[in-house]
Order: sequence, then structure tokens, then C-alpha cells
Amino acid sequence: MFTRILIANRGEIALRIIRAARELGIETVCVYSQADADAPWLEFADRTICIGPGPAAESYLRIDRIISAAEIANVDAIHPGYGFLAENSHFAGVCRDCHIEFIGPSPEAMATLGDKLSCRAMARATGTPIFPGSKEAIEDIEEAVTLAAEIGYPVIVKATAGGGGRGMRVARNEVTLRTAVGAASHEAQAAFGNGAVYVEKFLENARHVEIQVLGDKHGQAVHLFDRDCSTQRRHQKLLEEAPAPGVDPRKRDAVAKSAVEMIRRAGYAGAATVEFLMDREQNFYMLEVNTRVQVEHPVTEMITGIDIVKTMIRIAAGEPLQIKQRDIAVSGHAIECRINAEDPDRGFIPQPGLVTDFVTPGGPGVRLDTHVRSGYRIPTDYDSLIAKLIVHGRDRDEAIARMRGALDEFRIGPIKTTIGLHRRLMDQRPFIDAEYDIHYLERMLSNESAGEAPVPA
Ligand code: ADP
Repeated sequence: MFTRILIANRGEIALRIIRAARELGIETVCVYSQADADAPWLEFADRTICIGPGPAAESYLRIDRIISAAEIANVDAIHPGYGFLAENSHFAGVCRDCHIEFIGPSPEAMATLGDKLSCRAMARATGTPIFPGSKEAIEDIEEAVTLAAEIGYPVIVKATAGGGGRGMRVARNEVTLRTAVGAASHEAQAAFGNGAVYVEKFLENARHVEIQVLGDKHGQAVHLFDRDCSTQRRHQKLLEEAPAPGVDPRKRDAVAKSAVEMIRRAGYAGAATVEFLMDREQNFYMLEVNTRVQVEHPVTEMITGIDIVKTMIRIAAGEPLQIKQRDIAVSGHAIECRINAEDPDRGFIPQPGLVTDFVTPGGPGVRLDTHVRSGYRIPTDYDSLIAKLIVHGRDRDEAIARMRGALDEFRIGPIKTTIGLHRRLMDQRPFIDAEYDIHYLERMLSNESAGEAPVPA
């Protein structure tokens, strides 16, 4: 096992990794930016090293500075968390060249699954269901037009290097497709330095269901069942739950099995999430693979009792997976609400600033992953996620009731947050009945701003 690891991240996930390392008897080194100099989680690290100014491009994204810190502190491994460098295969490669273990997949496995086209090829080879669409990047517009006619409109043009919802355009007919290809390619070139795009079928009113997978360095892989992350705004997840409500276990098991096979075939070691869209008939279509720990990993931990972050560290240290698929079972239901420092009444604009009022919820089945405390000043430089409130109940109804109570107890001020929004969501009939899709939250928000009374629960 490692003696010391470096955490190349900040906020709640840095604290989450510190906690996992501490339980494993591993020392932690946190790198931080000047904007995070007084940050609470740094108190719990064994050592801290400043790597530059607030903007991430000058600190948390600076591979040279992170590697220097790792050399100075003499660490065995680096945990990248999520975001920043977590899915950067170049960074994973630099770590390897420097004989520092990257707590995640090899650069090769990351590159194969991170590129949407090679990931689709891997899915095809392992029977993982995908949308009908391109096998190769689009060479010219006529090719896209022919393919779209074959699979039928609507279609979506996507960047092979895509991420964060950029480089995507929906086309409902040939005229819009002709402009969509150029626009998506242009945007992808600017965002990723790679303008390659492809076309696939576009599914309306889908649900987002994903499978958590773990693979080790000895060719073993297991899945930890599914999560539903359909509650989104502008493709950003706001609430996640596990297991995905109402999914036929046979369909779920078949898809999960194929996801495991894909991870194994890619020689993948670490935690991965295979994301799918699911239609009304519960057909699954793979979207992409995330080659890192996810923000929403706690809901899976709550229903399986498996510590995903600790397992990632063990896998990176070369330990074989201790758990067999037959021993992994779902217990109860878990929900996570992302508490963002944003003002939902004013277009979700970020709310940096001083937190003076911070009263946290508690009680049975309530978990709070946060780096915030009273007196903490939220910096302007980073993502607005300030807390993840997770509840676990015997079943979904109990989890919802528990979440209502926890949200009522949770007080953060004077800054605005998404707590009230989540609280209203808990009373919406479609949410209670799990009759939602990826547009549901946006529909609820536009009904609210139109002054329509909510559907009473
Ligand atoms: P990114 O890597 O940029 O996040 P994804 O492939 O994960 O891109 O897609 C992001 C979101 O775009 C999905 O959650 C979904 O809302 C929408 N989307 C992507 N592909 C499709 C599709 N084929 N049909 C319908 N919606 C899609």
C-alpha cells in the first residue's frame, strides 16, 4: 500500500479523498491555489503545498507544478478527483513517466474510452448498446446527410473529443444538419483543439441512467449497479439517485454486464462510469464513459456499502478486487442533492462570498459531503458546488421523506443556494412518482417562472 498520496484537487472531493486515505493509513499532501490558502480541508492534510494563483489554468491545471509538488513531498501516487486533470491522459502519462502512480486508469485505457468514437467501437465489440450512427468521423457534409437519412431525424452531431456538452448540435432536418456539422466542428476545434465530429440518432425525452464499474489490474471487473441522473439543467446534473427507479432488473443486469465487459476489454483499472440514455421502453444507448470518480458516487456507496474512493486507491496500489459480483447487493435507496452556491431566481448566477450561517442536517441515513463551514469565503474562481446532501432510506419513499427533512434543516446564508429548489422538487408529483426525463427540471422551472401552481403532491 502507498505511504503518501497527493491530492490534485480542491473542495469537497479533496476532503473525501483525505478521509479515504486516512482510513487506509495513508498520509495526504494537498496542493492548493492562493485563492484556497485558508480553505478548511487543508487543515486535515498532513502537508500542503501552494502551486500558484487562483485561476485553475495557473494552479490546479498546471501539470509541471503538481508534479514538482509530488517530487518535493515524495509521494507514491496522485489522486486527481474529478474535473481539472482527472480525464487528461497526458497527465496520467506524465505521472507514469515520473514513477508516480496515477489513481485511475492507464493513459491508454483513458484515451480509448475518453474518445467517443473509439469508445463506441469498444461498445460494439462487447455488446454494449449504442445509438445508431457513425463508425468514423465525418469527412464531408454529404456523408453526414446520407447517414442521417439512413438512421432518421432527429440526429445529433457530436465532437469525438467532446465533454461538458460542448461541440454538440441537434438537427431535425437536412437543412439544419448542413449547418450543424460545421458549427459543431468549429466549436469542438476551439474547445478541444480537435474538430472531428460524428452523427448519431437523437433521442427525445430520455432518462439518464449510468452504471458504476470497478476494474482492477488483474483483469477483474464488477459493477455496482445503476444511478439515475435525469434531473439536470443545461446538461448539468442537479440530483442523482440509486438505484434508477422502475428499471426492469433484467434489462439493467444485461446492460451492466456489457459495461463490465467493456471496462475489462479496455484493460481498465479504477472506477469508471458508463453513461446511457434510456427510452420509454427501457432500451439503453451508451452516451460515453467517464474515466474517473463521479460527483454522484456517494449514492452508490450508500446502496452497496462499498467505499468507491478507498477501492480506487487499493486498485492503484495493485491490490486485486476483494469483492465478487455475486456478493454485491442493493440495499434501500439513496438520493443526492447538489447544493450549489447559485441563485435559482436569477438565472443560477454564481454566489461567491462569505458564508456566516451554516447549519447542517443530521439524523439516521443522512450524509453531508462538504468543505464549507461558517466563516468560509467561497472563491470566485471555481465550480459552484459547495455541498452534496445524501440520504439513504429503506425504500425510495423513505429517502424522499428523509431528504425533505434534511433540506428543511440545512441552512446556508447569506448567500443563495439550490436548497430551496431541491425542497420544492421533493413535493412534485412527477418526481415522487419517478415520472421524469432529462427535461423535467427545466419544465418545472419554466412552469414556476410562468407562475403556474405546482402539481400538488
Ligand atoms: P458531454 O461529454 O459533452 O457531456 P454527452 O455525450 O455525455 O456529452 O452528452 C451530454 C448530454 O447531451 C446528454 O446528457 C444528453 O442530455 C444530450 N445527448 C447527447 N447525446 C444524445 C443523443 N444521442 N440523444 C439525446 N440526447 C443526447
